[in-house]
This record gives sequence, C-alpha cells and structure tokens, in this order.
Amino acid sequence: MPTWQKEWPRLERGGGTSWGDTTAPTTQIGTGSGAWEPKTLGTKANLDLEPGMSRAPPSSGAPPTSTAQASCGQAGYGQFGQGDIQNGPSSSTVPTPRLPGSQPFGSPLAPAVSQPAVLQPYGPPPTSAQVTAQLAGMQISGAMAPAPPPSGLGYGPPTSLASASGSFPNSGPYGSYPQGQAPPISQTQGHPGVQPPQRSAPPLASSFKPPASGGPRMPSMTGPLPPGQGFGGVPISHPNHVSSPLPQALPPGTQMTGPQGPLPPMHSPQQPGYQLQQNGSFGPGRGPQPNYGSPYPGAPTFGSQPGPPQPLPPKRLDPDAIPSPQLNELPPQQKTRHRIDPDAIPSPIQVIEDDRNNRASEPFVTGIRGQVPPLVTTNFLVKDQGNASPRYIRCTSYNIPCTSDMAKQAQVPLAAVIKPLARLPQEEASPYVVDHGESGPLRCNRCKAYMCPFMQFIEGGRRFQCCFCSCINDVPPQYFQHLDHTGRRVDAYDRPELSLGSYEFLATVDYCKNNKLPSPPAFIFMIDVSYNAIRTGLVRLLCEELKSLLDYLPREGAEESAIHVGFVTYNKVLHFYNVKSSLAQPQMMVVSDVADMFVPLLDGFLVNVSESRAVITSLLDQIPEIFADTRETETVFAPVIQAGMEALKAAECAGKLFLFHTSLPIAEAPGKLKNRDDRKLINTDKEKTLFQPQTGVYQTLAKECVAQGCCVDLFLFPNQYVDVATLSLVPQLTGGSVYKYACFQVENDQERFLSDLRRDVQKVVGFDAVMRVRTSTGIRAIDFFGGFYMSNTTDVELAGLDGDKTVTVEFKHDDRLNEESGALLQCALLYTSCAGQRRLRIHNLALNCCTQLADLYRNCETDTLINYMAKFAYRGVLNSPIKTVRDTLITQCAQILACYRKNCASPSSAGQLILPECMKLLPVYLNCVLKSDVLQPGAEVTTDDRAYVRQLVTSMDVAETNVFFYPRLLPLVRLRIGTKSPIESTTELPAVRASEERLSSGDIYLLENGLNLFLWVGASVQQGVVQSLFSVASFSQITSGLSVLPVLDNPLSKKVRGLIDSLRAQRARYMKLIVVKQEDKLEMLFKNFLVEDKSLSGGESYVDFLCHMHKEIRQLLS
Ligand SMILES: [Zn+2]
Repeated sequence: MPTWQKEWPRLERGGGTSWGDTTAPTTQIGTGSGAWEPKTLGTKANLDLEPGMSRAPPSSGAPPTSTAQASCGQAGYGQFGQGDIQNGPSSSTVPTPRLPGSQPFGSPLAPAVSQPAVLQPYGPPPTSAQVTAQLAGMQISGAMAPAPPPSGLGYGPPTSLASASGSFPNSGPYGSYPQGQAPPISQTQGHPGVQPPQRSAPPLASSFKPPASGGPRMPSMTGPLPPGQGFGGVPISHPNHVSSPLPQALPPGTQMTGPQGPLPPMHSPQQPGYQLQQNGSFGPGRGPQPNYGSPYPGAPTFGSQPGPPQPLPPKRLDPDAIPSPQLNELPPQQKTRHRIDPDAIPSPIQVIEDDRNNRASEPFVTGIRGQVPPLVTTNFLVKDQGNASPRYIRCTSYNIPCTSDMAKQAQVPLAAVIKPLARLPQEEASPYVVDHGESGPLRCNRCKAYMCPFMQFIEGGRRFQCCFCSCINDVPPQYFQHLDHTGRRVDAYDRPELSLGSYEFLATVDYCKNNKLPSPPAFIFMIDVSYNAIRTGLVRLLCEELKSLLDYLPREGAEESAIHVGFVTYNKVLHFYNVKSSLAQPQMMVVSDVADMFVPLLDGFLVNVSESRAVITSLLDQIPEIFADTRETETVFAPVIQAGMEALKAAECAGKLFLFHTSLPIAEAPGKLKNRDDRKLINTDKEKTLFQPQTGVYQTLAKECVAQGCCVDLFLFPNQYVDVATLSLVPQLTGGSVYKYACFQVENDQERFLSDLRRDVQKVVGFDAVMRVRTSTGIRAIDFFGGFYMSNTTDVELAGLDGDKTVTVEFKHDDRLNEESGALLQCALLYTSCAGQRRLRIHNLALNCCTQLADLYRNCETDTLINYMAKFAYRGVLNSPIKTVRDTLITQCAQILACYRKNCASPSSAGQLILPECMKLLPVYLNCVLKSDVLQPGAEVTTDDRAYVRQLVTSMDVAETNVFFYPRLLPLVRLRIGTKSPIESTTELPAVRASEERLSSGDIYLLENGLNLFLWVGASVQQGVVQSLFSVASFSQITSGLSVLPVLDNPLSKKVRGLIDSLRAQRARYMKLIVVKQEDKLEMLFKNFLVEDKSLSGGESYVDFLCHMHKEIRQLLS
C-alpha cells in the first residue's frame, strides 16, 4: 500500500452500486478498441539503424542567427525607450492609518460628510468584514458635489507637487480627481465585530452610522492639506469625518502623524546591517522601506516621523535618490497622474498581509458550511471536518443567491476552482482510501452521488435520503448502523465517507474500461533528433538525464515503479527501439510511412526499467551519436503522437507521452503546419485565428488519445514560430503540460529544462480519468474550463491529471435554493493511479445560500473570481474579437460593483466609489488580466508566447493566477536585517506593490510571477552589497542579464540564493533568473511586470483603471 495511504479500518462491504448508467462517468473508448494488428513493415520501414542522412545542409531550421534571436526572449525589448514615469511620484503621502482589513480610500466629497462611517474593528475573517471604500471626488459628469474646504487627509506632499500635479482641465477622460484622501470608511455592515458564520444581511441602512456614535473609531488622524493643494482652484476639502479631532493644518512638508503604534524606523540610516547610502528625499510612495516588519508594507508608515519640509520628490520616486527639485520639469500629463494617491487605493499587499496576520495562526477547520477560507497567499493548515479543503476546491462565493434573479442581478459568477489531486503539505493527511469490497462505493440510486457526510440517515438507519436529489435509498444490510439521538450514525466518525470532506474509494471492475482492472501505465519518451535538436546539445543533455531520471518514476510507495517505459526518436520519420532485457544491444526500427502510423513492434517496446536497464543505458548512450551528423531539419508532429497513442493502445494501458520537439512540423505528413504567424491580425476581428489550431487533425487526434488514456506532455525548444496554438492542442485536451524554452542553449537553459523535466517525470499522475461534479437541486454545473476533453455536457475526461492541474466549473441556477439546506457540491474523480489501481476520489463542499445580496458580497473570494474571469476571457479569445472579450470583462465587473453599490452600500454621493470589502481588489486584479499578454500584447510578445500563456493559465489554480497576474515584488536588502537567522519561509516576506515608484535605487528586489524571476538592482545600491552578491566592485560592473548569482560565502549571498531556491520550490515550473540593472535596457522587460503602472502596450495604470471602472459603474447607476 502506498505510504501516503493511511491506515483505515477495513470496512465491511457496502451496498450494491452500479456503474455505467447515465450518471456514471463511463469513459468513451475511441474508435479502435485496442486490438493491435501488426502490419507488415514492407518497404515502408527499414530495420537497420537509420542510414546516413542524405539531405542537404539545414535549410528549414537554420541555427539561430540574429533573426532567430529576434523571436527569442528578450531581444525585442531593447528597442523600447525609457518608460514613462508611471503614476509619477506619489505625493509625500500622508500615511492613512489603517485598521486591519479596512481600506483607506479617498475622501468622500461633501455629501459623505453627513454620513461618516462608523469604523468597525476588524472582526473575524473576511467572511463578514465589509469595507466601504470611497474614492474621492470622481467627478465624472461634472455634477460635482460641493467640495469641502481644504483639509484633506491622506494626501500629501506638500510643496509644489500639489500645485504641479494636476488641475481639473487636464485630468483626463474620467474627470478630475480632487485630491485628498479620506480616512478609510470602513465597517462591517451591521454587525460590528460579531460575525457568526452564517448570518443574514444586516440592515443596509446601518452601514453608515453617524460619526460621533458607535463603533470603534479609526484612530484619529490629522492630515495636512498644504496650501496650494487644491486642484485648479476648485476648493477641495476632505473633512475628516472619521477622527474626532479636526484636522490640523500642518506646515508644508510636515508629515502626518500616523495613528498606528510604533512605527519601524525604516528610514533611519541606522538599519542594522545595511545603511542607506544616501540621504534620501524621503519622498512619497516609498513603499519598500518604511514598513518592513509592519503589518502594512505597502502603506507608508514613515509619516510618523515628523520631519522637516520635504524636498520635492524626484522624477523617479526613490527614497534614496538625491532630492530633486525637478518636479516642475515633468510634462503636464505626468503631473496629472498624481491626482489620486496610490497609497489611498486598495493595496493588494495590504490585503495579503492582513489576511496573513489574521488567519495564518489558526488552522482552517472545514466543519462549518459556507466558510470563506484564508487567502491563497496565506500559509495555513487545514483540518478536514466534513468539507473539502480549499486546496481542493475554492469558490467565487461561499454564499450563493437563492434565486437566479438575484444571481443575474449581482452578476457574480458562481464558480468553483477544483484541483482534485492537489498536493498537500506534509502536516495534512492525504485522503483516506476506503474499500467497500466487491460491492464498491455506496451511491444514491437515482443521481448516483457517492456516500458523503451530508447524506441523511432515516428510519433508524435503514434508509438514507440523498442530499443531492432527495431520493430515499435503502441502506444495504452490510452497511447498516444504528443512529444516535441526534440522528447521526454511531459509526460516523469511523468512516471517512461519513465524516470527511475528501476521501477515496477503491473502484471495482465496474469502474474500469472493458470491465477489466487496468494495467500499470507507461511512459514513452519521444525525442526530436532533427538538426536543431542535435545542434543545441538538447539530445545529448536529455539522453544523459534520462539515464538517471528513470530511477525516479512515480512509485506510490512501492519499492519499484510499476510504470513501463519506451523510446522513440524522430525527425521526418520515426525510429522505434526494442529495448527488451534479453537483447545485448537495442534495436532500431524505422517507420517512414508517417501517413499511416503504426507501431512496428510490441514485445520489447514498453519495458520495465530495472529489467532492461543495460539496454536502455546503451540506447541513451547511442542516440546522440547516431544522429550526431544529421542534416535533417524537417520534422513531423502528429504522427509522433499517433505512434505513442497506438503503442499504448497495443499494450492496453494508459500512459503519458513526453515529446521533446524543436520546430514547426513542415514535413509531408498528417498535421503538417505552415507558418501562419501574422502580427497584422492583432486588434482585428481575425486575431482569434492566431489562437485557433490551423488544422482539425489535432482535435481528432486528441480525442483518440483521451479515449486511450494517453496524456501528452510537450517540451518545446523553438528558435522561431512553431505554432504553439496548434501544437499545444493535444497536450491541452489530454490534461498534459506544455513547456517552452525559446532559443534553447544548453549552457543557459539546462538547469531550467532539467528541473522541469525531473519534476514532470516524477509527479504523481492519475490516468484515464473522468471527473463529474454533482450539485444539490437548484444549481448545476454548466461550464468547465481547463485542460480536458468533453464528449458530453457533464463528464470531464482527462487522459491524465496531475496535482498541478485545476478545472474551473461554473454553476447556474435551475431552481430556487433554500437558505436552510444550502447548496452542495460533490466532485468525483475516477482515475487509474500510477500503480495501476482504479480509484475514486471524492470531494464534498457545502455552501450557504442567501436571500440578501449583502450576504453574497460578504462571502466572495476575489482571487477565485479572477481565476474564473481570466479563464473565461482566455477561452473567449478563440471565438471573439479581443476587444469584445475585454469589454465583456469590464462590463461584468462594473455590474458586480454597481449592484453592490445600489443594493448593499448605504446611500452616498455618486462621486464616491464604493467597493465591497472582499472585492476591493477586483479592479486592480481585473486590470492585470486585461493588460496581460493574451488580451493586450506588447510589441515584443510573440504569437507563440500568447498561445503558450493562454494554455498555461487555463489549468492554473487560484494561487497561480494570483501571482501570475499580480507579481510578487520583494525588497532584498532588508534581508540583511537579522542575517543570523536564515530565511525560513519566503511566504512570510513582506512584498511591495508592483509599481516603479515602489522601487528604491538603494535596494535590490526579486520579482516573480510563477513563470519569470527577476533580480532588479538599484543604481545606488551600496558597494558592499554589490560585492557581497555579485563579487564585483561596483554597480557598473554587474552583468546585465545574468542568470546565475555567483556562489559566495557571505550571509547576504547565501540568503538571497536561498530565497531564490525557495521561491522556485514553491512554483510548478522552474523560474529562470534574470538580473536587471536600473536604467539598463533590460529594465523594460522587467517593467512589464510592474502591473500597477501604465504598460507599454497601452494597459492602464491601476489608478486610471479604477477611475475607468468608477465611470462605468456610474453609468450603470444613472
Ligand atoms: Zn441522489
């Protein structure tokens, strides 16, 4: 028994089950039912080693020259000039004091003054906290509320910035944004502080209490709005309607006093271990420095230092930069960007930190229905007490509207992101395996749902009522048990299926293809040996690696892996290898008739690794030599997959193909492709064709693969366009993975490739899988996103499924839901384990249902919403013009927020933007999706890159989409503080917001998004730091583009390299490091990931997009 299977009392046999009826996820077997008919090799194949290549020198696959380079990676980035100053320097922001969970958000205009908010203490988790955030003065229509007298809070840089930074006429299409950010108007609506897990909507009217009464207050704040702060003569003021004391006018340049406790002396030059070199203008927006160790890294707390008049912020906001009086040199359009203080709009960093602070310490116990779990960015443990762990299922909302009318009104997508085979941390138990013997798992007779904790036993335990369809079922005698006084079976806690959210059943032959228990799966390695693959050293590297990697095939606790392996090489013909253990040397068989692919040998092709070890090693030694002098540049592709699939079919097993491929398959064969890359199609109605496969061959092939349980993992090594959109179709539809290494060079890329390969080969996979999501009456699954195939509307067929892949499922109402009974989901995954065992994995989740919209908005999870929306959009680009896709997202988001504003928020000025607490990051994250390469490509992004990313995102879980769309930016020099203790956990490191203005030239930052990893080095980093990390004397000597840090024996070097290793370990793919120097041309590449800024491709800055959203919302409300 695999080690991860826990001991569980062997259970007596359960009742009868049936498989193969309408609801049972039967697998469709493809056209051929597996009978292998040997074909005569005849003239089509040679049985010798491949004869010498007679072709001319490479033509189609020239070595990468400068042209090839242009298609590879970063080369194209050099052409861009220096980027804009994004958002410009933020004003020397007065730190708006924040309560955990509350979001300071602009000051309301006058009308709001009459209804100042009651600030609530941050109650228990986000399940209920709700903050009304207000964005000051978004005067769009010009129907502006009377502006209060100048006394704004939270804005600040005194000095000429104010006057320079914007006057109404220049404020852009969305009107003007009077300065002055109010203190957070935050509150939990209705039930201050007390949030029972299931609550009904509080009276909406209570959301804004008179300021003077009730509720804990925001700590009092005082905020200066220096003279001259008003915009264009419009009197703006920001009455501090939160804090009791009236704002005091402070001299220009005086920082506000932050209300929060002790503030870290971040700006003091006496930071242990590292001293800031320059006496910086501790200007605005110095995200990084101020808050190390404070709960709000993004929120400047440096305001606590009452300081001398602040120097003007330099053009580039940089705490360490020499003060620059040059603000007035900024072009006017840049100045106008200062109209909203970036520190006053919802900060992802703060939300993440708040959640960590509030929820990381206690385990998340799943016993209560409808609980919103901690964020994916929080490290927490899960205790399964009847609902599936959020590692398996996350929902967009844990409280579903009772009626479809309500759901339509809110427009909040009802979706679940399901990762059925998610890996768990060591501290959490893997699902128990339950064996009900020959009778198999107990199920509802009508809807076929599996026994779960929500089934109701009645009539003294003799029957049970199905929680999904209400059908009354008999309990089979061998499963009978008495009930206790609460109606619960007395053995409930002894049975996983009666007490846990997630568990497995051993499946019987009824659940197997052809009613036959499955054979162990096989892995087939299929290696491109054309000129390009040989020339780059790929083939030699791969063969060498495979020799040792074959010892690490998934074993599931067994001493030896049950998986058999086979080998194929190919260019425009295929070479099969007989590696039977009895052979002294491997034998090659060549199949040149690629139009009618068949497998020339059965015996000796798929073998046990340890038995055939010597022959396999010999083969892997020989392959690079055999093809060393190849001149063949053309390749085939579809016939390779076909061959692998036929081989599995012949062996009557499921399995995985590992394809290592380098070029556009232009050789004459089925699936032959032409170069149809055309950048001119971007932004036209035909852009969608760039994402569509160029031939139907691959769709048909994928269908056959799925029927056979043949999963395809594709490793691409392109020098130029290879049509990823077409080549990745089979991997996508078979639940496989695609990896892409543009312009692969062994010396630069081997670490990344080998790391990915090792992980991919070793990971546990379920084969020949079918997933079915059942729901209780009232809702049903209507749409699915991910890497799989569907031949009907309910069964998600996965030739393979690993622990990294998710399926996002959308639900719709088909009836009224009931608050009492809630809504139930049951995800059942039938699969064959790596050891060849047929199993069912069951995940159950109960959600609340509501009749008040406020309850919906209080229980949403924005990260999951974004996962759904990104997948929805990325699928949409296949069929619709991208502009339509983008507009759809914006409209939906605006509708969601407008519905909240209209129905849940208390009445207030139309000039205010009010966001629900748990959706306050929806605008910033949505903007990141909108400006991603798929939906708004920069000039340097290739068509293949876009197709690749589109494919990747489709299978991402919530944590992956979160960091992919909003990268993590970690300041490093601070790490020297306390170097005595090595970094234990990178997840606890405070990040800063992804904006250029958060970068200090005196610091070094790591930025990662799950795929990319940058080390950005500021120009004025201390020499000692440069020496410690790079072993060179000065900044100018650091090699830009470096991908490996030198191994140096000093604490900083060790710590940074340790951190990089740790970041890599957290991600499913190896992230190659790129060292970027400030002001270097590579910096443009890096800046693409500073997602709060305006992007080179035209993507809006966060501030601008927030204004855009506000305008959309106002239009909907008017
Ligand atoms: Zn049922």
